[in-house]
Amino acid sequence: MSNQLSVVDALPGVAFTAQSDGRADFVNQGWNAYTGRNCAEAHGTGWHSAVHPQDLPGLIVHWNATVCGAKAVDIHARLLRFDGVYRWCVLRMNPLAQDQWCGLFTDIDDYRSGATPAPIDLDLRTIIDCIPALVALMTPEGALECVNCHNLDYLGATLEELQQWTVGATVHPDDLPGVINAWMHAVRTEEPYRNELRLRRADGAYHWFAARALPMRDAQGTVTRWVLISVDIDEQKRDKALIAHALAEVSASEDRLSTIINAIPGFVWSAAPDGSVGFVNQRWCDYTGMTLEQACGIGWARSVHPDDAEHLARYWNALLQSGEAGEYEARLRRFDGHYRWFLVRAVPQRDEWGAVVRWYGENTDIEDRKQAEMLAASIAIERQQSEETLGKVRSELAHLARVASLSAVTASIAHEVNQPLAGIITNASTCLRMLGADPPNVAGALETARRTIRDGNRAADVINRLRALFSKKSITIEDVDLNEAAREVIAMLLGELQRNGVALHPDFTDDLPTVRGDRVQLQQVILNLILNATEAMNTMTGRARYLHVSTGLDAHQDVYLAVKDNGSGFEPLDAERLFNAFYTTKSAGMGIGLSISRSIIERHAGVLSATLNDGPGATFQFTIPPAAGPAAEATREGS
Ligand code: ADP
Repeated sequence: MSNQLSVVDALPGVAFTAQSDGRADFVNQGWNAYTGRNCAEAHGTGWHSAVHPQDLPGLIVHWNATVCGAKAVDIHARLLRFDGVYRWCVLRMNPLAQDQWCGLFTDIDDYRSGATPAPIDLDLRTIIDCIPALVALMTPEGALECVNCHNLDYLGATLEELQQWTVGATVHPDDLPGVINAWMHAVRTEEPYRNELRLRRADGAYHWFAARALPMRDAQGTVTRWVLISVDIDEQKRDKALIAHALAEVSASEDRLSTIINAIPGFVWSAAPDGSVGFVNQRWCDYTGMTLEQACGIGWARSVHPDDAEHLARYWNALLQSGEAGEYEARLRRFDGHYRWFLVRAVPQRDEWGAVVRWYGENTDIEDRKQAEMLAASIAIERQQSEETLGKVRSELAHLARVASLSAVTASIAHEVNQPLAGIITNASTCLRMLGADPPNVAGALETARRTIRDGNRAADVINRLRALFSKKSITIEDVDLNEAAREVIAMLLGELQRNGVALHPDFTDDLPTVRGDRVQLQQVILNLILNATEAMNTMTGRARYLHVSTGLDAHQDVYLAVKDNGSGFEPLDAERLFNAFYTTKSAGMGIGLSISRSIIERHAGVLSATLNDGPGATFQFTIPPAAGPAAEATREGS
């Protein structure tokens, strides 16, 4: 053992054993001989004190890497010799036992030469691998000598491949000629190199890099190596491009804005919170004949009509006080002295605390509207006088229409009422007979009397329906189910239709929304349309008479009722004329049914129109907004 120890002590270098964490538990006599220090001092981390402070961090990094099995490398570090001189040594390590290592420092200082580029020592490698950029070392002639790990990772290439960068695709083809020129220039002149270029990432995507290279020189000033650092600036480049784009947009939109402001068919202005005007658009200047300078402050007020000036000033001050938006009508003087009416609108712009920071205004020319209003006002006065007469005529016409319809349905009513009346008479005589028999048939008479009552009620029903239809005077607005209203009208007209040989085809859509309106008036319209259709088929021979009555929702979700016949139809040019009052093609016609029907439908916010069928005949249809819709709400409020 002592023999072995003396061998270890006699080794030409510092030999030691240590734990994985670098704590030494043994050093040989070489330590004492080389450093001149006591061996005990070297135990634990004591030996670190002999390592050059600049080299210690690199040494520890490589120590740990070796211990972890990552890579076993020669570790270069300077050790302090007994004479106070730091000398380059190489440390080599081997595993000794579980968690224990032995190491050997060998002095190599004499072998390190300054003439040729020094071999890349471990520290430099460690350092360049730590730099979060692409670092490359180049020979004085400009050839690629070595790169850091990020280079290999980023570019996804081997050192050998990278050394061919001037012919490969590492540098973007568009940038390559410029890069080669600049690099050759730097190498020739030995001036720092700067460039921006695109480098290809492992996945094929090119990123922008800023590349800088500085020459390293020896004591004599000779370039020994170039250090080239390239930093990814792709994001900044993109940000810069975005900012440039945004700035271009802003200036373009400013131009557009001023074009728009001057193109607005009105006057646009802005004012400070105190109301003093700072801007008016070109149109304002063109109209008033004032310049922007003349309009600024309160100069604009000179364009206001003297009769409106005081009111407008008071209103404007009230807006400034309240900070609320508002509008006012006033006359503004044109450059030629002529005044026109304008609607002046002002809207405040507020900051995040709600304080008004600016007022924006717009003046719209409302001269035409004002003129129309004044005209309407004078017409209205003439009307307060004529409305009464008109109302009278209208109600007379309505009455006439009702009577006209009444005469047409009399036959049908007679038919309807006739049946129960005949029943009543028969039953009454049967009843009498039964009571007069000996013995009287009381049970039979009772039953017959009951049937008499039933028939009497039926007749009364028919009469009631008629009364409702023809004698109701006042208008009642309610939710009307058009299906139900139409069914009632049809029930009343069945006899009339039968008499005319008309086959009725009802086609009512279920769950039809109700409409707001006067049930009796709407039934009058339906009655009128059905009777017209029947009459249009009256003269027709040679084909069956069809009458289709349908309901449903149209494309606008309005409720419609259509009456379609296969009768005579009408001349296409007459489609509108039919609705004129007193237009009729019938010898006994009055020509007011359709005109009254149309005014009834229009009062229900609806439309009544006539179209010719593809085949023979015509279709008359009206549409009314459903009760739940906004238009019906208006009818509701207006009623
Ligand atoms: P009248 O029925 O008294 O003539 P209306 O105003 O009800 O008055 O009708 C005006 C005219 O419209 C009728 O004379 C007729 O020429 C035409 N007309 C109305 N309904 C139809 C229809 N279904 N088919 C063809 N023409 C019709």
